[in-house]
Amino acid sequence: MADMRIPFFKPAISEDDIDAVVDAMRSGWITSGPNVQALEAELAAYTGAGYANAVNSCTAALHLALAAWGIGPGDEVIVPVYTFSATANVVLHCGATPVLVDVRDSDANMDPAAFEKAITRQTKAVIPVDFGGEPCDMAAIITIARRHGLKVLSDSAHSVGSLYRGRPVGSIADATALSFYATKNMTTGEGGALLTDDPELSDRVRMLTLHGITKDGWGRYTAGGTWRYDIAEFGFKDNLTDIAAALGRSQLRRLETFNEDRDRVAARYLANLRDEEHLILPSINEANRRVWHIFMVRVRNQQSPVPRDEVIKKLAERGIQTSVHFIPLHYFTAYQRYGNWKPGDFPVAEHIFDGAISLPIFPEMTDAQVDEVCQALREILHPR
Ligand SMILES: *Cc1c(COP(=O)(O)O)cnc(C)c1O
Repeated sequence: MADMRIPFFKPAISEDDIDAVVDAMRSGWITSGPNVQALEAELAAYTGAGYANAVNSCTAALHLALAAWGIGPGDEVIVPVYTFSATANVVLHCGATPVLVDVRDSDANMDPAAFEKAITRQTKAVIPVDFGGEPCDMAAIITIARRHGLKVLSDSAHSVGSLYRGRPVGSIADATALSFYATKNMTTGEGGALLTDDPELSDRVRMLTLHGITKDGWGRYTAGGTWRYDIAEFGFKDNLTDIAAALGRSQLRRLETFNEDRDRVAARYLANLRDEEHLILPSINEANRRVWHIFMVRVRNQQSPVPRDEVIKKLAERGIQTSVHFIPLHYFTAYQRYGNWKPGDFPVAEHIFDGAISLPIFPEMTDAQVDEVCQALREILHPR
């Protein structure tokens, strides 16, 4: 893919980002310390969450939240089938059972009715995923969850900066996991965070993040610290480094700008492809202010003279790199082996997947590049 003229994604790393990392490396403290503490405070302030725990991935944030809630063997956690496998894997890593449910055709987000139907006496939590940056129907999901005493853990790997009915993502669910993976809307290379208003959850996650130790390294080595510590529980090793947190703080300062640039790209795609009869474009929910992590178009395979797979191949031949989000979880070997899932079980997710193409979108993408992708799509979809 190295010869792709228009990449699917390109990270936006500035000289300020590089300076921030270098400063952290020169500071004498490179793992979790003052930069992690500051990033946590800045994330809480940005999202309106009471507490933020910075960790080394979104996967870790999801896993730690479930573990801190004591979710384990015999428990069920409801997960949409149209997501990245991390969302369901963490349930299995707790020894609990992931229960897959279908999504909505309009936005590929979890269908609240499917969620409600899947609830049993064993259900303990639900993990809605904000697909592509569009917030889930949280009012419906939270109402159902409250009725059944379930925790709501939002997988907001795509949606940092989104507003759900005017409220920032991170301040709505019982806990919200963010991703700072290389391709996400802000990055620390690898990294993530858990946001919550519950101080007990945040404290327990902090302890489980670092082996179950009752004090973190920074606390032990600063003035007034002591060498003595206790292991309260068998924890994990999921802390974020100060090197990564320094990058995260620098990126967070520009997140709004990144998201505005992504808005520009998305708006240009929407205007440019508006009349393309063989594509379904993303629908816009006016109640929310979504960020664009993924710009997914869907090929109408029934009527299009060129099917989805062929469109992707022909775009690649023109130097345009695309991706597909997501391969539904029940298509994967490990899931088919684990559960009784088979193709046909989740018709909406399967239908979306059949046509899905994620087009290039990144802050530095130029208008000319967007226009080139649109022109290529039109030519490919209307062969002479
Ligand atoms: C990227 C992603 C994750 C995992 O994020 P990491 O930071 O790589 O662990 C989880 N869920 C979804 C929906 C994602 O896209």
